[in-house]
Amino acid sequence: MQVVKNLQDLNKVLKIVSNKSIGFVPTMGSLHRGHLSLVRASKKKTDYTVVSIFVNPTQFDNQNDYNNYPINLQNDISLLNNEEVDLLFIPDYEELYSSEKLIKIDLHNLDKVLEGKHRKGHFDGVVRVVSIFFNLIKPQYAFLGEKDYQQYLIISLLAKELFEKVKIILCPTFREESGLAMSSRNLRLEAKYSKETKKLFELLTYCKKNFDVENRKKLEQICFEKLSQFSSPEYFEIRQSVDLTNEGELSDKWRAFTATKFGDIRLIDNIALN
Ligand code: AMP
Repeated sequence: MQVVKNLQDLNKVLKIVSNKSIGFVPTMGSLHRGHLSLVRASKKKTDYTVVSIFVNPTQFDNQNDYNNYPINLQNDISLLNNEEVDLLFIPDYEELYSSEKLIKIDLHNLDKVLEGKHRKGHFDGVVRVVSIFFNLIKPQYAFLGEKDYQQYLIISLLAKELFEKVKIILCPTFREESGLAMSSRNLRLEAKYSKETKKLFELLTYCKKNFDVENRKKLEQICFEKLSQFSSPEYFEIRQSVDLTNEGELSDKWRAFTATKFGDIRLIDNIALN
């Protein structure tokens, strides 16, 4: 695996592989098996897999969360080496953003609900950094996790509007045996919450079992109340998978989304309901 940290080296390496199909896996590091499942999907589908590790400051609405984001670079490098990733890009903030081309995109309100509503400016930062990466790396495919489903919808729209050559591939959420979605932030969860975090996936499963389009408002309330019994919820909402609106029919595809805190660790998860 080659590791590059600056744009000159990145461009040099990418020039050599310009005839290959490139799969790109953007990450913020502290890698777990969820990230590695994206890497494997890319290795399977493309000739050349590029992973980035970059904790992007512009997508954090909370300085503490940014300062405390876990960093495990040596372990990440060894995991990616084992997966036989072709190229690892670890950019420097100043240099990366100096290459930014300003873009304008209408996100059709996808950024106004759920995470967009609760983490102000979060998706502006995501769109900025992903645009920079797409411009630099010019992948044919980008692999994203279902755990961040709203992010997937927004990046899909970005690709459709401004990077039409990039196909976005959604990869299923990789879970612990307990059902808890793997997340770099799980590393910072205090052990005393391990019983409670299990209940999060149980609750999503309960919601799926009891879902009916007619009862969805009531079900949202019930789930929010149940969630409050073991954590500090920000939201529990049932929305359409296609555009995150909350009106529609049973024949539409629905999904439940939640964000909740265990101590000061904020976790998100979602599940397809039908
Ligand atoms: P992050 O490092 O948290 O920014 O995540 C980088 C990519 O990995 C995003 O596309 C995430 O959706 C994806 N990802 C994170 N956790 C998981 C998981 N448990 N299963 C599948 N994909 C994941």
